[in-house]
Amino acid sequence: MIDLEFDKKHIWHPYSSLINPPPVYPITRAEGVRIYLEDGRGLIDGMSSWWSTLHGYNVPELNAAMQAQMEKMSHVMFGGLTHEPAIELCKKLVALTPEPLQKVFLADSGSVSVEVAIKMALQYWQSQGRPEKNRLLALRNGYHGDTFGAMATCDPVNGMHHLFASQLTQHIFAPAPAPKFDESCTEEDIAELQQLVERNHQQLAAVILEPIVQGAGGMRFYSPEYLKRVRELCDTYNLLLIADEIATGFGRSGKLFACEHAGISPDILTLGKALTGGTMTLAATLCTDEVAQGICNGEAGVFMHGPTFMGNPMACAVANASIDLLLQRDWQQQVSDIEQQLRQELAPLKNAESVADVRVLGAIGVVEMKQPVNNRTLQESLIERGVWLRPFGKLVYTMPPYIINSSDLADLTKAMNEALCVV
Ligand SMILES: *Cc1c(COP(=O)(O)O)cnc(C)c1O
Repeated sequence: MIDLEFDKKHIWHPYSSLINPPPVYPITRAEGVRIYLEDGRGLIDGMSSWWSTLHGYNVPELNAAMQAQMEKMSHVMFGGLTHEPAIELCKKLVALTPEPLQKVFLADSGSVSVEVAIKMALQYWQSQGRPEKNRLLALRNGYHGDTFGAMATCDPVNGMHHLFASQLTQHIFAPAPAPKFDESCTEEDIAELQQLVERNHQQLAAVILEPIVQGAGGMRFYSPEYLKRVRELCDTYNLLLIADEIATGFGRSGKLFACEHAGISPDILTLGKALTGGTMTLAATLCTDEVAQGICNGEAGVFMHGPTFMGNPMACAVANASIDLLLQRDWQQQVSDIEQQLRQELAPLKNAESVADVRVLGAIGVVEMKQPVNNRTLQESLIERGVWLRPFGKLVYTMPPYIINSSDLADLTKAMNEALCVV
């Protein structure tokens, strides 16, 4: 038996209380799209373990890659040493991402890759003799991670960051993009961001944003034209653009990278979550030749970061296997099938009294309620229906593994329809 009492008393879970601990469910194994409770019940994982398990669980190809690498070398330091899995992975990342991105820094988690991106931008401007360009422009409703540097770029209100306000760099925030994914971007839509850039560009190092899909900060999809306008403003006013594709990378939004919707390339790109197919923690920060040159011509002469587990061979090996699997399979078809089915099957919720909006992009389906939902009762009701989701606030959403079949997806959306119509 899993010792839930000990868990309750001693173990922090994400954003949890140890005085009034939320329920946690004991999971003993996972296979395909299902995670299995200790009592044997299988739940369809509509979260892909937070955007990561693209190919589902217990995937033979991924297991084999980890096993083979483990038997050769599970880890070796990356300072002064290198290895094939890392080289192969960086070749793949350079090849798959937009052309200008040529240099790769392997980091251990999404938040760290954002820290790395911010440090790259700051070091770049220092080495250009412009150390005063040390602030960032970020978007409201944005989410970039939980470490201090990343946290300072998250939405200052919904991220509860006032708790740490005195320790955080005060960045500049533009309103969340208003035009929706299928809308164009009017002058008015971009006006406020444009003014902020015009007024502050002398002290701005970069704009940081999640391209097209704002994830944990609101699950909103915005216009590719808006993103294009931001890229143009960055060029005009000499700012770097940092695109955080930790959630959207590897096909989730219907393009391999969400920047492709707008046909733009950032100067710095962060990847994480799905990078290893949901098996091990790994992230990456890519940058252009120009950014790398700038950094290395500067005072330090080097990029000042180097985590202990940088480029872990097992994580790199399984990332390679996951990317191979993604490209071998027709991920575009899988994602577009999921998109179509989500559109169709979540549509009835638009008419529900309690629902404010239903939106779908790629393999992401979002139901926004008018009122915050009671997470506990909703989660219980979904579990009774054989489904795992993690609603937050007014948002009940799913981003299933790409391998989900239409009957499992139908069960998932049916559970969402039923559970949401009774709250
Ligand atoms: C999850 C996420 C992060 C943080 O990644 P961690 O691996 O949780 O540190 C940063 N940015 C975005 C867009 C994310 O979705």
